Amino acid sequence: MTFVMRPLENLATSDLVDSQGRRICTRLSQHSVSQVSKASSTLSQLPKHWPTRKNRVLEKPLCVMKFGGTSVGDANSIGKVLEIVRGAQRNYTLLVVVSAMARVTDLLIEAGMRSANGDLCVAWEIFLSLKERHESAARSLLHSALEQERYESKLQACLLEGEQACREAMLARELTPPVADLIASLGERLCAPLVAAVLRESQVLSESIDAQECIVTDARHGGANPDLDQTRIRCEDRLRPLLRHGVVPVVTGFLGATPEGTLTTLGRGGSDYSASIVGAALSADEVIIWTDVDGFLTSDPRLISDARTIPQISYRQAAALAYFGAKVLHPKTLQPVIQRGIPVWIRNTFAAHGEGTKITLAGARKKASVKALAAMKDVTLIMATLSGRKQSCSAMHRAFTAVSAVHADIVLTTRTKSPRKFGLVVRTSVVERAVEAIRNEFSGSGNDQLGLDVQDGDALITIVSQNLRDLSKITKQAFSALKETEIPIIADSNSRSGSNISLVVPSMEMQKALVVLHKDFQLDRLNSTHPWPTPSSRTIEPTKPLASPKSINVLSR
Ligand code: ADP
Ligand code: ASP
Ligand code: MG
Repeated sequence: MTFVMRPLENLATSDLVDSQGRRICTRLSQHSVSQVSKASSTLSQLPKHWPTRKNRVLEKPLCVMKFGGTSVGDANSIGKVLEIVRGAQRNYTLLVVVSAMARVTDLLIEAGMRSANGDLCVAWEIFLSLKERHESAARSLLHSALEQERYESKLQACLLEGEQACREAMLARELTPPVADLIASLGERLCAPLVAAVLRESQVLSESIDAQECIVTDARHGGANPDLDQTRIRCEDRLRPLLRHGVVPVVTGFLGATPEGTLTTLGRGGSDYSASIVGAALSADEVIIWTDVDGFLTSDPRLISDARTIPQISYRQAAALAYFGAKVLHPKTLQPVIQRGIPVWIRNTFAAHGEGTKITLAGARKKASVKALAAMKDVTLIMATLSGRKQSCSAMHRAFTAVSAVHADIVLTTRTKSPRKFGLVVRTSVVERAVEAIRNEFSGSGNDQLGLDVQDGDALITIVSQNLRDLSKITKQAFSALKETEIPIIADSNSRSGSNISLVVPSMEMQKALVVLHKDFQLDRLNSTHPWPTPSSRTIEPTKPLASPKSINVLSR
């Protein structure tokens, strides 16, 4: 069964359009007054010989470096972070963004949920394990009594805050979104002060900064959206003075706060996004996402052992891969930097000499036809059939709006050859919410009844290619490769401007399908020789504005 699908990677694209229109303003606000006074209290502690001229421009290019969970996962890894920061300091003004230590956010979320279910003991056990893990890292990394004490008191304060929030959830028998965010935030808030202290101990001037002071968001807890104008004002006030004085701010990733000061989170994996928000707000020269793989690879290396590092890729292709499941980059990461043409690198903390992947507007000079594959496990195809006279077009729009209203994000919409049939692909975790929203929307629709057929256990594979001309050829090739290995294609989609093809296959066949396609498109033979100098020695490229993305049309099959 093959449907024509309308990929919502254009969701990401239309977001880009929105962000293009945004003006970054530099007005000073009431709030900035208090922020300036906070920043100047730090500055008053700086050595006397440091320059204090307020508007001194940065001497070296500004680089925002984000370190992910594995990169700060233990004392050894934090040692690598230290080496990278110290090395880069020679050529760059640096701002560091950190995630929580690996798996800490998962544990915190579990602590919150268990507390709301009345299981406070599990939450205490989790807090105890987090305390031990952070204390052990601090013991190995911090040698001065002052830094140890400072960190210990920060640790105690954070854990106390978490315990109180869990108690609140237990008493209310409910985990409200603000409380859930507060608990989930603790991982980054425990990590940033540790990394800043480690840097200070190695003679790198550093200060840990709570992102709530810099990143202003709406109140959509668990997936908040930044207000870039306000964020720029706060970043200028809070961070720029530190940068001017050679202090490396270590900012908590993943977090922000509403204008009223309520803590929010940007969504799972959101520290990448934090780095690009701060990078755009401060007009950084580049953003580097340091992680545990060599860069953006032709496929997830956990699924494809011979996946290759892509030396250079365009914003559009990287955004599509991230949107369709490449976890190495949070899907929204590129939005804030595209407008300013700030290059984003993905590099390996544990193989820092490697050159990684450079993400730019233009992407690679030498164009490969198929660039990479992304995969999303656990999606569900909801097929809707109208029994009335209405056409599927308006019904699909209603269903789409209803599902979006309950924040059950739709990955793809599909149209079929039948005018009364359409489909929606959603994450399996939100399928119940999505189905309920559609049923409610159509419950009083008289003759326009909507039958729903929910098919669990699907996976989505997306082939990102270079240009439109190749698409039908690539689709044919993908179909025949999968047919040969008897992997059924439940649905497929072609997008024009995004240059990607998505295939819905049974979840159980996902890995096999990836292996087959990776081989068939010869992605294992990608030549990963870098045509440019390494980041530490190169000059910064001039920034370019993004050309308007073309609208996406549906290709009929
Ligand atoms: P971090 O904790 O540094 O943010 P993540 O776990 O969020 O790291 O992302 C890195 C992981 O993304 C890799 O370990 C890899 O398994 C996965 N991944 C998925 N798709 C890709 C891809 N195309 N290229 C590189 N890594 C990928
Ligand atoms: N710590 C957060 C998470 O696990 C954010 C991040 O790692 O980017 O989702
Ligand atoms: Mg990540």
